[in-house]
Amino acid sequence: MPGPFEDHVDLATLAKEERLARMRHSAAHVLAEAMLDLMPEAALGIGPPIDTGFYYDFRLPRPLTQDDLAWLEDRMRQSITRQHAFQMAAITRAEAEARWQHQPFKLDLLHDIADDHITQCTHAAFTDLCRGGHVNHTGEIPAFKLMSIAGAYWRGSEKHPMLQRVYGALFESQAELDAYEQQLEEARRRDHRRIGRDLKLFDVIDAVGPGHVIWLPAGATIRRELQRWIEDLEIERGYQHVTTPVVAKRALYVRSGHWDHYREAMYPVMEREGEEYVLRPMNCPSHIMIYEGSQHSYRELPIRIAELGNMHRWEKSGQVTGMSRVRIMTLNDAHIFCADIAQVEQEVAGVLQLMEEVYGVLGLKNYTYRLSLGDPNDHEKYVDNPSMWEAGEALLRRVMQGMGLEFHEAAGEAAFYGPKIDVQFNTAQGKDETLVTVQVDFHLPAQFQLEYVAEDGSRARPIMVHRGVISTLERMVALLIEEYEGNFPLWLSPTQAMVIPIADRHVPYAQEVAAQLKAQRLRVEVDSRSDRMNAKIRDAQLRKIPYMLVVGDREAAAQAAALRVRGGKDLGAMPVLEIVEKLRGERDTRALVP
Ligand SMILES: [Zn+2]
Ligand SMILES: [Zn+2]
Repeated sequence: MPGPFEDHVDLATLAKEERLARMRHSAAHVLAEAMLDLMPEAALGIGPPIDTGFYYDFRLPRPLTQDDLAWLEDRMRQSITRQHAFQMAAITRAEAEARWQHQPFKLDLLHDIADDHITQCTHAAFTDLCRGGHVNHTGEIPAFKLMSIAGAYWRGSEKHPMLQRVYGALFESQAELDAYEQQLEEARRRDHRRIGRDLKLFDVIDAVGPGHVIWLPAGATIRRELQRWIEDLEIERGYQHVTTPVVAKRALYVRSGHWDHYREAMYPVMEREGEEYVLRPMNCPSHIMIYEGSQHSYRELPIRIAELGNMHRWEKSGQVTGMSRVRIMTLNDAHIFCADIAQVEQEVAGVLQLMEEVYGVLGLKNYTYRLSLGDPNDHEKYVDNPSMWEAGEALLRRVMQGMGLEFHEAAGEAAFYGPKIDVQFNTAQGKDETLVTVQVDFHLPAQFQLEYVAEDGSRARPIMVHRGVISTLERMVALLIEEYEGNFPLWLSPTQAMVIPIADRHVPYAQEVAAQLKAQRLRVEVDSRSDRMNAKIRDAQLRKIPYMLVVGDREAAAQAAALRVRGGKDLGAMPVLEIVEKLRGERDTRALVP
């Protein structure tokens, strides 16, 4: 065939990514073919390849069911067995309009094709509007499975009709497909939304609003422990904690530049007495106001202002997820005002050391450092000041190299006002997420004309460092739930021990034991229900409570308890005093046990 059309392609000679993209896109054609067999009145959207397979969007006369998926998959396998060739052809606009006259979305796509290079692809009796990128015939489509059905707006916009999207997974071998399914199952098992509900850690209630997280008592306990710990670590390192209002005048964020760069992600403006107020999207301007509020000498610098500050981000209701993507969040935030580059280097190094310590205690390992750079050609997205960008980027690179930290660099990932180090986590959901950042900022100090009195009496401009360490409490707890699969180490466990009396007559002794633990501020409960012991043990295990203290006649006589560990291990009878010591030790050292 002449022109832009594909001849036979030798799949083995293609890069794996290209080969997979062709297989996945071809499978989407076969899915559409099957769908027209199931429902001839189906209106076809688009069918692109994605990272793990493919999808196709349809407008259908009724909602799809799991049975439909099984039928479609079966029908696709028949088409694959027959090895139908994929054949590309050029057609005129008039031919295309005639062919898809009853397919409104295809006509819509046709409008987008500016020139007259219109091509179609045919296999078996099915023809689609398509630019190409297929395998030679359907027999070259390897291991696949139809996975799920979801709603998706045509062209991704609420202004257009909602279609039904069928997702398929596709890999080159059955083994890879099996591994992918296992990974999905693992992600489901660790899903913080499911575990958070089972363990009553948090809730999102429609009457309160999507993305507005409610911390239930058990989750609030975890949050409080993290908060106390990080604040203590910061106090040791010379941070000063403040509390600032979550609402401020809009003008403050106009001055900081947030209004220009973040407006779309902010809650709408509130107006009273002729003034405009907003819920703050970031804490930086509040801390800058504190710095600006008094005169500073070079002797005071660096000044480290910290706050577990509430921030607000207008996420679309369809995009909020459990605690990992929310609209109201509490950031473990701090702003360090430095006199010069040397001080910035020291402070950034100090922040990275604190991160290493914190992630070590939490047992987090799946993270890497990323140096996020600006883009000198993008003045829309980034503040235009080349020497500032160069100095900041060089400095961050130097600090990480000096500490022997491994990192990679990424262009176009910086904040609008300066370069940053991102801590990238590989989550249990298989996603690469930025958990926290350290940013060097020459811009906001200039914007707010911040000053300090230098050694020679002149006025100098400080440099700011923005940093988080444990991210937002929401995101960190979501991450920890998934890392630990709900089995929090003792120090973070909402209930640290459950005392289980064997029979009703042992309840008074159980309460005595609990009182001894409580006296050491251990979080303990007594299961005084008249259920069987085994049922109580099972319940405590389902609640993922680290330790169970089982008490009966023998234990009462010996001032002891039979100690069982969450995982099922039985440590046998131990004196209560010894148990208290053991639990206290594990709590105070924040050990990653049991
Ligand atoms: Zn195609
Ligand atoms: Zn900041």
